[in-house]
Amino acid sequence: MSRKIEEFKPQNPDEVSFYTCGPTVYDYAHIGNYRAYIFNDILKRTLRFDGFNVLHIMNITDVGHLTSDSDEGEDKIEKSARLESKSAAEIADHYTEAFKSDLKKLNIIEPKIWCKATDHIKEQLDLIKVLEKKGFTYQTSDGIYFDTSKTKDYGKLAKLNLEGQEEGARVEKNPEKKNPSDFALWKFSPKDQKRQMEWESPWGIGFPGWHLECSAMSMKYLGETIDIHTGGIDHVPVHHTNEIAQSEAATGKQFVRFWAHNEFLLMNSGKMAKSEGGFITVEELEKKGFDPIVYRFFNLSSHYRSKLNFTWEALQGAKNSWEKLKGKFLDLGQQNGTPDEAFIEKFKTAINNDLSMPQALVVMWDVFKSNINDFDKRATLLEFDKVFGLGLGNVDEDEVEVPEEIKKLVAERDKARVNKNWEKSDELRKEIEKAGWLLEDTADTSRLRKKD
Ligand SMILES: [Zn+2]
Repeated sequence: MSRKIEEFKPQNPDEVSFYTCGPTVYDYAHIGNYRAYIFNDILKRTLRFDGFNVLHIMNITDVGHLTSDSDEGEDKIEKSARLESKSAAEIADHYTEAFKSDLKKLNIIEPKIWCKATDHIKEQLDLIKVLEKKGFTYQTSDGIYFDTSKTKDYGKLAKLNLEGQEEGARVEKNPEKKNPSDFALWKFSPKDQKRQMEWESPWGIGFPGWHLECSAMSMKYLGETIDIHTGGIDHVPVHHTNEIAQSEAATGKQFVRFWAHNEFLLMNSGKMAKSEGGFITVEELEKKGFDPIVYRFFNLSSHYRSKLNFTWEALQGAKNSWEKLKGKFLDLGQQNGTPDEAFIEKFKTAINNDLSMPQALVVMWDVFKSNINDFDKRATLLEFDKVFGLGLGNVDEDEVEVPEEIKKLVAERDKARVNKNWEKSDELRKEIEKAGWLLEDTADTSRLRKKD
């Protein structure tokens, strides 16, 4: 996409149509997944900051996503239902709620419309009928497939090398597929097994292929051409490539004007993924004493198109900066002045520079160093926070985390002051300052803040 976001022109000048591929709700999402949702939240907030309205849609995949991520294997939801002895609907509801609760903790603005694959079976069947009529489909013993050789530019998004894929055809598991890149639009239920989730169709009882829902639902809510579509970079070679192929085959129009993909979160130098084992959830962050907002803040330290390496030490570093930021923000007092125009302009330049959050953070720290008055600083930072989404305006004194040993020293010193033991009080103040904290005395108590 044009990396100057403010120059972006939506089809409807009043509203940007924006689609995000949501989660497959068969398990808890991990913080690598949430990197994608923090990224699309930053994009949405930036568009709003630039004055656009955003019609944002996110799907919930509750059927059709198979364990292989392609057309083989078990349905992920049905597999979890079997392993947890629950119904597919119970599994989907439980993990959908967990996902939404995590979004809230990460201060991610919810989409205007949530749409579930199982609520849109009719739309998906209608789309297959259109594709069938236009000659893009064929039937095998296990489903209805999309014939990618019928499109003139299959794989254009990922610049796929299809010749390379032909060579791989020797190991292709489904010999009935005409081309290795063909994919299922509709899968038939296995003959020997009753699925929990299956529907009638003109071709036989079954369920939709994973990619189909995104095309069908984005068309329903956003029209045949959408302005922006986001997702993780892992979606480029298959899922988004197939969304484009089937949508453009059906409508003859461009499906998406701008794609924006975020890079992976790495752990131990590998991609954080469920299939790799060892992934971290939001709940685990909390258990280890990290407010999920710290994870959001950590994400702002890198560009969305760069890989981000997760370590607990790096997260602790983000926590330290976040505590410092909160303390400095509170020092500005409670009264709002006027946002400083020059700083707002600098901030706008940073966020519109392909969402450069690292650059925007530099502008933020510069506000503290500047000589504008505290009220105006506060108002300026609250404007920035409309994009950062850290909830700065809700931060209060109690939230600034003070280490136990410092708290103890402060309490001891307060006691010394009450007893008018000034020598001891001075000694303790020095000790506290040495540890990096400043004390401001008020009439009957004292207030702590972190040293710069
Ligand atoms: Zn999708």
